Amino acid sequence: MYQLTVEQSFDSAHFLSGYEGKCGNIHGHRWKVVLSVEASSLKEDRQQRGMCVDFSTLKEMLKGILERYDHTLLVEKASLKEKTMEALLEEGFSVVELEFRPTAENFARHFYEQIKAKGYQVAMVQVYETPNNCAAYRE
Ligand SMILES: [Zn+2]
Repeated sequence: MYQLTVEQSFDSAHFLSGYEGKCGNIHGHRWKVVLSVEASSLKEDRQQRGMCVDFSTLKEMLKGILERYDHTLLVEKASLKEKTMEALLEEGFSVVELEFRPTAENFARHFYEQIKAKGYQVAMVQVYETPNNCAAYRE
């Protein structure tokens, strides 16, 4: 089995609704996302001969998925008052509403599923919230 790993990152702010402690306040992270895909055989066509997937294709695909979250405020749906959401949007801030609590664990699964849906054989997605804290998801 071959395995390829690429990484990309994005910057965003979040808070954990209902969390008592520092993470309940709005703060920022540079989220690092490490994607590993696998393949049992290598391609044989000219351009990609001897490769699972072109690294640059993989990196661009991952970047494309993460773009939507870059330089935004990540908000779990219904965790802010409607009035607050309206005010943020009125100010022109980029807010991304999520169906899940924006933890590294949930993001790891969220990205895993999106990449799998694109037809990749995903081995694992790791999401670093800080250089020392990482959550991973695999099936
Ligand atoms: Zn955080």
